[in-house]
Amino acid sequence: MRDYRIAAIPADGIGREVIAAGLTVLEAVQARHGGFRLIVEQFPWGSDYYQQHGRMMAEDGLDRLRRFDAIFFGAVGDPAIPDHVTLWGLRLPICQGFDQYANVRPARVLPGISPPLRNCAPGDLDWVILRENSEGEYAGNGGRVHRGLPEEVATETSVFTRSGVTRIMRYGFELARHRPRRLLTVVTKSNAQRHAMVMWDEIAAEVAQDFPDVTWNKELVDAMTTRMVLKPKTIDVVVASNLHADILSDLAAALAGSLGIAPTANLNPERKFPSMFEPIHGSAFDIAGKGIANPIATFWTASMMLDHLGEREAAAKLMSAIERVTAISAFHTPDLGGTATTAQVTEAVCDALRSANV
Ligand code: ATP
Repeated sequence: MRDYRIAAIPADGIGREVIAAGLTVLEAVQARHGGFRLIVEQFPWGSDYYQQHGRMMAEDGLDRLRRFDAIFFGAVGDPAIPDHVTLWGLRLPICQGFDQYANVRPARVLPGISPPLRNCAPGDLDWVILRENSEGEYAGNGGRVHRGLPEEVATETSVFTRSGVTRIMRYGFELARHRPRRLLTVVTKSNAQRHAMVMWDEIAAEVAQDFPDVTWNKELVDAMTTRMVLKPKTIDVVVASNLHADILSDLAAALAGSLGIAPTANLNPERKFPSMFEPIHGSAFDIAGKGIANPIATFWTASMMLDHLGEREAAAKLMSAIERVTAISAFHTPDLGGTATTAQVTEAVCDALRSANV
């Protein structure tokens, strides 16, 4: 029996509902598959913890998480606390502390989902957006002076390092190499940002030399938004900076049908530290507590986690159970135009896993 230690951090809003659903489905995967066991420990960190303790996570939080094989994360954000406090207090310290520099965000139109684009046939939209997750525009490098005075100044300076850009480019080319179409689009803004983005482009061209089997091109981030909408079929793997990919991946999630479906993995590819798996969506307080959050993003995330742990067959089984359920409109939650509840979708995926033919 292979044992994996999983740290579950449901955190805020619908994060709690979807992580509970995800853990239920992961139990069904283990029962179906056999051969491995997930030993899950839950951490009560997040905005409620902040209200009680004045911090989003325990002081020794990273040390406690370090021992785990993976982190299964819900969402952070609470209307009562500024977003930069919640984000910089929990999610970003984990991503940065564990050097999870590769943020992998698949977007695909799953069976039964009607994407918002006219003329987008199944299979036309099958992308992986790779987000640089450790530096760039979200490096936290800046400050404010003369606070509150008319002459107040705030700076937010991007940080792009040769090593940081090289490693994300290499990861992007590797990812593209292992996909059937072997296409990589490098998103840039080197026409307007003439220092960091020019280096970004140069490094892409250098790394490309080692991947002659990958076809690649550059696209300005603004042009990329129109290409995603007008020519989805021309896109396969996309690598972009922290800010650019943050925006493009929300667009990708919407184009694939709903934010409630989109998963993400924050990877430390060298496996020196645990990687973190989470749905793309936030804590969605508008629907929290109503039992209608779409848990599919979290289930897909769970499948990515199993894949990362090396349980490829279990990951594939979970993915095929998910696709069976999305194919049936009676199991669509309100974000997909249906009336199903989180519990109903969860039960349907567990049922599919129990059935012999997934
Ligand atoms: P953040 O800033 O953390 O991204 P946000 O509140 O801006 O948070 P989300 O929480 O992701 O954004 O929610 C955006 C919208 O999408 C909300 O209207 C929410 O109800 C909807 N939404 C997000 N996730 C889901 C989900 N899993 N199921 C159903 N609807 C969702």
